[in-house]
Amino acid sequence: MDVLIVDARLWDGTGAPVQNGVDVRISGDRVVEIGHALARDGTSVIDVAGATVIPGLIDAHVHLAMDPGAAWRTTTPEQHAEALRRHLRAYLACGFTTILDPAVAPDELALIRATLADGAPGPRYLTLGTPFSPPDGYVAVVIPGFPSVASAADVEAQLDAMVAERVDGVKVTVEDGIAGPVWPMHSDAVFSAIHDGAERRGLHVYAHAMTPKEQLLALDKLHPYAFVHPPDRPDKDALEAIVASGVYETSTLSVFDGLRGGFEPQRLTDPLVLLTVPLDEVSTALDRDVKHAFGRKMIATAFPHMPMKGTVGRLAAHEFVVGPRVRRAERSVRDLSDAGVPLVLGSDSGNWPIIPYLFHGPTSVRELELLGEAGLIFEQALTAATRTPAKMLGIEAGTIEVGHLADLVVIDGDPLADLSAVHHVRLVYRAGVGHSPEDWAIAP
Ligand SMILES: [Zn+2]
Repeated sequence: MDVLIVDARLWDGTGAPVQNGVDVRISGDRVVEIGHALARDGTSVIDVAGATVIPGLIDAHVHLAMDPGAAWRTTTPEQHAEALRRHLRAYLACGFTTILDPAVAPDELALIRATLADGAPGPRYLTLGTPFSPPDGYVAVVIPGFPSVASAADVEAQLDAMVAERVDGVKVTVEDGIAGPVWPMHSDAVFSAIHDGAERRGLHVYAHAMTPKEQLLALDKLHPYAFVHPPDRPDKDALEAIVASGVYETSTLSVFDGLRGGFEPQRLTDPLVLLTVPLDEVSTALDRDVKHAFGRKMIATAFPHMPMKGTVGRLAAHEFVVGPRVRRAERSVRDLSDAGVPLVLGSDSGNWPIIPYLFHGPTSVRELELLGEAGLIFEQALTAATRTPAKMLGIEAGTIEVGHLADLVVIDGDPLADLSAVHHVRLVYRAGVGHSPEDWAIAP
C-alpha cells in the first residue's frame, strides 16, 4: 500500500527553499508524488505536522567492522556478528541511510555483505576495502592484519583483488605520524602505480592525509578524488590548491570530539546512545578502570609532553588539549567550507577500538551537530550530509525527488532553527520502508 506523509516542512536537499504543508507519497521503494493536498484514497496517511522531512543522511567515514571499546573486553565471533547487526540498525535509527567504510579487511567485508544479503536491516553500505599502506607505515602498524604494498607489482595485485571484491574506490595513506614524523611513506613509484592503476580500472582515489603538507603531497602525487579527513589549519596557499583541485574533504570532527566521552559522562545517557548502543559497549565506556587506562594511553600516545599525570592530568588534557584541538579542527572545517571546498560529513565512528566512545549511529548525529558548532549554517551542514556525499559516491541519494529511492527522515521540530533537533528523529524511511528509531533499533 502507498504511504502518504502529510503536512511536512520539507527540505528536499536539491537546493530548493524549504516548503511548508507538503505531502510526500511513497509507493514501493520510491517517492512517486510531492505536492500540496494530495489525494488520500487507498493510502496509509501519516500526519507529520510540526515535523521536518529531510533526505536520508549519509556518513562518508565509518569503520563498521570495528566495535567501539573492543580493545578492553573479549568478544566471541558470535558476539561480533551480533554487534554488527546492532550497529547496522543503529545507523537507521539515527537517520543515516547510507554509509561509506574507508577501510575494511576482506573477511570483515564478507561478513558485512553476507549479513546484509541475509536481510538484516541496515543502511546502504559502500566501501574502499583494504587501504594501500606502506610497509611498517600507517595503517599497517596501527591495525595488525592489514597488508602493505612495497612495489608496483604489489599495487597491481591488490587492485585486482579489490576489483574482484567490487569496492567503490580505493584508499591510500599519506601519513608520516599523528604527532610528528615516525612512519615511512609510499615511494614515488608506488604512488604512480596506485594513481595509474586505479585510473585504468575506473576507481576513484581517496587519500588519508591530515596535515596541509601531506594533502599537498597527495595532490601532487595522487590527484585524489577525496580526502577522508580535513587538513589541520590549512593556510591560504593550501586552501587555494585544495579548491583548485576540486577534491572532496571529509569533516571527521568526532575523531577529537569523541575523546571528550570520558570527561562528559552525560554523553553516555543521551537517549540515542541508550537506544542504539549495545550494552557491552556502554558498560566498557562506563568502566572506571577502562576510563583511566584509556586516558593514560591516549595521553601517552597523542600528548606525550603532558606534564601532569593521573586524574589531574586527564582533566588538564580535557581542558587544555582536547577542547582546543576540537575547536582547531572546527576552524579548519569552516575555512574549507567558506573557501567553497565540497565538504562531506564523516564521523570516523569505530575508528580505533581503544576509544570507547565513538559509537556507531549516535556519533554520526554528533558529527552533524559539530558541523553546526563549527559555524556552518543548517543548509551547509545538511548538504554535507546529503547531496554532496551522494554526488561524491555517484549514487541516487541525498535528495527527495519524484522517481528517486525513498530514503528520508522525519525530524520532530525545526532543525532549520536549531540543528540539535536532529537528535529527535521520529521516523526513518530506507528504500520506502519506514520505522521509528525504537523499531529500527530493537529487532522484532
Ligand atoms: Zn577512519
